[in-house]
Amino acid sequence: MRQRTFLAPTLRDVPADAEIKSHQLMLRAGLIRQTASGIYSYLPLGKKVLRKVEDIIREEMDEAGGQEVLLPAIQPAELWEESGRLHAYGPELMRLKDRHERDFVLGATHEEVITDLVRNELQSYKKLPVNLYQIQTKYRDERRPRFGVLRSREFIMKDAYSFDTSNEGLEQSYQAMYKAYQNIFTRCALNFRAVEADSGTIGGTDTHEFMVLSEIGEDTIAYSDQSDFAANIEIAPVVTTYVKSDEPLKEKELVDTVNIRTIEEVADFFKVSAAQTIKSLLFIADGEPVLVLVRGDHDVNEIKVKNVLDKDSVELASAEETARLLNCETGYIGPINLPSEITVIADHAVEAVVNGICGANEKDKHYKHVNPGRDFTATYADLRLIQEGDPSPCGKGTIQFAMGIEVGHVFKLGTKYSEALGATYLDENGKTQTMIMGCYGIGVSRTVAAIVEQHHDENGIVWPPAVAPFDLHLVTINVKDEAQKELGEQLYQTLKQLGYDVLFDDRPERAGVKFKDSDLIGLPIRIAVGKKAGEGIVEVKVRKTGEMIEAEVAKLPDVLE
Ligand code: ATP
Ligand code: MG
Ligand code: MG
Ligand code: MG
Repeated sequence: MRQRTFLAPTLRDVPADAEIKSHQLMLRAGLIRQTASGIYSYLPLGKKVLRKVEDIIREEMDEAGGQEVLLPAIQPAELWEESGRLHAYGPELMRLKDRHERDFVLGATHEEVITDLVRNELQSYKKLPVNLYQIQTKYRDERRPRFGVLRSREFIMKDAYSFDTSNEGLEQSYQAMYKAYQNIFTRCALNFRAVEADSGTIGGTDTHEFMVLSEIGEDTIAYSDQSDFAANIEIAPVVTTYVKSDEPLKEKELVDTVNIRTIEEVADFFKVSAAQTIKSLLFIADGEPVLVLVRGDHDVNEIKVKNVLDKDSVELASAEETARLLNCETGYIGPINLPSEITVIADHAVEAVVNGICGANEKDKHYKHVNPGRDFTATYADLRLIQEGDPSPCGKGTIQFAMGIEVGHVFKLGTKYSEALGATYLDENGKTQTMIMGCYGIGVSRTVAAIVEQHHDENGIVWPPAVAPFDLHLVTINVKDEAQKELGEQLYQTLKQLGYDVLFDDRPERAGVKFKDSDLIGLPIRIAVGKKAGEGIVEVKVRKTGEMIEAEVAKLPDVLE
């Protein structure tokens, strides 16, 4: 590709609104441009990297037995009604109407559409298991789009869905995806860690997130320094040292618990940052403050972030709203009846436990049917997020923290969607059975940003070869010099013939500009055709190490090997 007419507008200055390195560099190197808040256009360099990452994903998904499909981005709202998510997903789901006033949504995820497809097309155990995947644009009206394509409102996701006839089958499908994800992120040269994630079961292996380790990550990973234990702190908020509910709490501690009213106060109470708190806690002001530790699934997580914290304050939910949110009766707050396991602690309920007066109708102690042991077992002492230095829940080692960017997520769905939408099949005995599902996502565009976040230096991006937009950057330093121009042109043809994907800087720019752009764009190898062109000598530079050597043109293919 000739750079003279190549759309890669580089920027010298750091764009003012780009806070993190990957966002800055993707703008500066001309990979992306913002079209609207959280909505980006990919320029040719960006598009090429996306495709590289997609190709790696495709190869590994196909190898793991996946079949590629392409589902519609625009989905009938009825399907979401059927699954019960139309309401539950909240404002993150973009909604629209067609000319006949029929309701549609823009796909934030595709469980509904794929389950609908499969229920119509697959009816026999003989056709199962299947794993269907797609690489497609997703829409989520994020509350706070930021960090460029890392958290955008339109983004590219690989999503896969498995349909099995048994839990053992699901386990196999899940393991196949887990392995594929490890291969994918390894090939993308990412330093990552698979961590247990929020699934509604404590310490279960029902879901894992693939986290790219990075200071700017929005998730906190708690891991053991002496074992494989690693979990998103979202699922490790409760310390295992229980104070039994029959042991009274100290007066002082009680005072602490009743005075928390804002997210900041909650954060302070738990000795964490407000951002962490927002991820881990639902704080409902329903007359009196109530702390809820949500170990939600998938969707509950979304609810928590949108419906509650959207409002940016604690004055958010009426009793009715709270009940609806938690899918339980008004006035009843407890772990029973909830869509997934939830530990609810009302501060006055804690007080009630301590004083042994649960369910009493005294002032401020008006929660109906709250029953310690049945409705909650946790007490004040549980209400501390796991901290660095705590003993690891696995029994080996101590807890350390790291920040992570969630690039992938594998999830055992079970029969949640197949039941709701009636995805059934006939088994060997002609009996109707419900399919058992898994879902598996990778943020393709987020992965690109994560790669840049981990692979750059002060001069620009340093692409790992497997995902670099081009293999080589061929730079004719002075295109007005005949010898240089001629050798550059000749090399461009030769290198292309050798199978290299070459970006050829044939621009009439100053050497300084060309080298700066070259470092910024960050292709793995730069070949500069300069003063020694007449002698058939070029300069080869390795972007990553800065190592530079002179090479005879005839020996160049060997040097590049
Ligand atoms: P997050 O916790 O960051 O909001 P999520 O858990 O909501 O992500 P999933 O529903 O698990 O996301 O979607 C699968 C993958 O899609 C994520 O692991 C992530 O890589 C990617 N992804 C999710 N939301 C975004 C977004 N707004 N912008 C870019 N990529 C995203
Ligand atoms: Mg999200
Ligand atoms: Mg997440
Ligand atoms: Mg996720």
